[in-house]
Amino acid sequence: MKKWLLLSTLFSTSVLANLHLAPPDFETSSGRAIFVDFKTADYDITYNVKWKKTRVKSKIVFHAEKSGKPVFDLIPNILNAKLNGVPVNIIETESPDGSKLRQIDGVVGPGEHVLEIENSFSKNVSYNILSRKVSSAFWIRDLKYRKFMEQYIPSNFEFDQYKMTMNVTFAGTTRARQDIYTNGELTETSPNSYKIVYPEYFTVSCPYFHTTPKGKKKRLDFSYTSIDGREIPITVYTSWWSHPSKFKNESIKVMKELEADYGPWAHPSLVAYETIPGTGGMEHAGATQTSLAALDHEMLHSYFAKGVMPANGNSGWIDEAIASWRDKGYQRKPLPNFGGSNLGSQSVYKRHTDSRAYALGAEFMAYLDYRLQDLGGLKSFLKGYFQAYKHTVITTEHFKNNLEFFSGLDLTHDFETYIWGENTPDAGLVSEENPVHKELSPSQLKSFL
Ligand SMILES: [Zn+2]
Repeated sequence: MKKWLLLSTLFSTSVLANLHLAPPDFETSSGRAIFVDFKTADYDITYNVKWKKTRVKSKIVFHAEKSGKPVFDLIPNILNAKLNGVPVNIIETESPDGSKLRQIDGVVGPGEHVLEIENSFSKNVSYNILSRKVSSAFWIRDLKYRKFMEQYIPSNFEFDQYKMTMNVTFAGTTRARQDIYTNGELTETSPNSYKIVYPEYFTVSCPYFHTTPKGKKKRLDFSYTSIDGREIPITVYTSWWSHPSKFKNESIKVMKELEADYGPWAHPSLVAYETIPGTGGMEHAGATQTSLAALDHEMLHSYFAKGVMPANGNSGWIDEAIASWRDKGYQRKPLPNFGGSNLGSQSVYKRHTDSRAYALGAEFMAYLDYRLQDLGGLKSFLKGYFQAYKHTVITTEHFKNNLEFFSGLDLTHDFETYIWGENTPDAGLVSEENPVHKELSPSQLKSFL
């Protein structure tokens, strides 16, 4: 549509160079911390099924715009690190809001640099020493910070998009008897190793990776013909207590609904893993680990969350608001049921989504739908917004600017009240856990392996 083409030139961001979306650089006790632009990240992941040890060797090529000590994140212990071929210390530091991250203890100048890191990790890994097999998954969460890929491998923050490649080796056996489920392009490179290449538009919250002993899960592979004519490969799988046919039927039904509302599926495939009823789920890009009841919600997130992607914690409310607005039947309301909130105006370093986004955000979307009713409602805006900005990273300001451009309305007062405002008592009352994104214990998450 004409309106969207014009909009793209007005608000487009240069593809994949997202440093302008990073939070401000800051001072730490060891020097100026700078955010950098990851270009590529290559991860050699070795599961030693004989010695029950997991090692990752990473090579990250990044670009710095200014001089300083780059920040990124990785939770597990670092065994060694090199910057441009020279050994370097990696320290744990804090951003001005007190959240933890990693900093290279070495100054870089503007230009391209190479960071090499070796680390081990044990989270969501389970070895069977007798059979020499392993179960491992990179589960993520978004309602607490440091729950993305930094739990396992060195990563940048959500504002950045970069090409990730994983070379996965099962050492200690001549032939790996493993299944691999992923939303990247998978190739077998030897009898015990695989290569996974993820799309370049992915951020740190997009990759899906799960390996299990061969045949441990029940899977169905089929394809779905998109409205744009593509055959989209779909893999659904589950554990012994269920059968993936339910997931197959539901995923086809939801795919039809979402494509009709928002346009063609924007990922190369869909991978959906059924986990225990009542435990909710989590979205990746064209992939999800979820209970059956939350599958539709998580698939919607392949449009909003992992199609159009939030740059930071302050923009994370948008996709939960849209998904919850859909869950509640696309309500239309002349006013939200709360007086005001700061959903989108917390620390600029915030990396996770405010859990009130479901309730308050859905109310705000119902209100926007009311304001846009003469233009086909909010869904009509969202369809165009998705088409124009899929595979890009967006902020609340970007969302507001585009809503205003589409509608001709001035929404400044509404955003300053409901999203960037003060928390009114009624906004504070919303603290109930959302059933689709439940907080799970580490042992619950491990039980999904
Ligand atoms: Zn959600």
